[in-house]
Amino acid sequence: VRSALRARERQYQIRDHLLLQERAEVELRESDRRKDEFLATLAHELRNPLAPLRTGLSVLRAMVLPSSDPRLAGVLGMMERQMGLMVRLVDDLLDVARISRGKIELVRQPLELREVVDAALEGCAPMIGAARHGVELKLAHQPIWVEADRARLVQVLGNLIGNAAKYTPDGGRITVELRSREGRAELRVTDTGVGIAPEMLTRVFDMYVQIRDGASRTQGGLGLGLSLVRRLVEMHGGTVAAHSPGPDEGSTFVVTLPLLPVPAPGVPGTQRTD
Ligand code: ADP
Repeated sequence: VRSALRARERQYQIRDHLLLQERAEVELRESDRRKDEFLATLAHELRNPLAPLRTGLSVLRAMVLPSSDPRLAGVLGMMERQMGLMVRLVDDLLDVARISRGKIELVRQPLELREVVDAALEGCAPMIGAARHGVELKLAHQPIWVEADRARLVQVLGNLIGNAAKYTPDGGRITVELRSREGRAELRVTDTGVGIAPEMLTRVFDMYVQIRDGASRTQGGLGLGLSLVRRLVEMHGGTVAAHSPGPDEGSTFVVTLPLLPVPAPGVPGTQRTD
């Protein structure tokens, strides 16, 4: 009888333990959901005032340019760069909220990647110019076509080029390469900046991860950009990886994407180019 009682007691203990564990999991999921909801609301609330501020800045720019006072133009340039950074942060926050609710949808179309490179570089021009970085382009001579969401690819590449500019001391060099290799399109962004330690090469793609040691001291940001890059590239059937010889020796980020499989009617050069 005693051993039967002990067995029953043990069963109750196990049941209580499982119930507690289940309750803890439900609470964790609930607080995760509330965090996502809070981030989404925060991002929306921060986004709303940015649109009129941006419009105001371009009106000021149009009014100031004719007066060509270099001090005013300098202040405006600074405000535009800061505004650009803020818009990027808030957009990243919105995307993270969308991703955790499974709400990002791609609008795919045949795209020529050289044009995507141009658009991404144009978006980063103020940042690259302010840091006086040199830019080197090594683009395939033949067009390279993929089927992708244009805005999302410009975002991916803009993020990588923006990071290259951000994590490279002034006057560095950023190289953007585009080619087709082994049946895939390959984009590489290389910088001469602070580099990445070997143990961080895969971790930098995790959400909220920033390297905080001396050489790669954080430059602001939330540690969201690369996790979005990876997510968006994977949604396109692509891959992304980071390489670096080590701290202070620069970094290279490599994105590969499937080439457009069949020639698009009326779109020349969509066959495989390798
Ligand atoms: P954020 O730039 O907002 O911190 P990211 O997700 O874009 O977030 O990058 C994560 C971390 O990876 C950065 O904080 C930085 O430490 C490191 N990193 C990203 N790009 C580079 C680069 N080109 N060179 C050196 N470190 C980089």
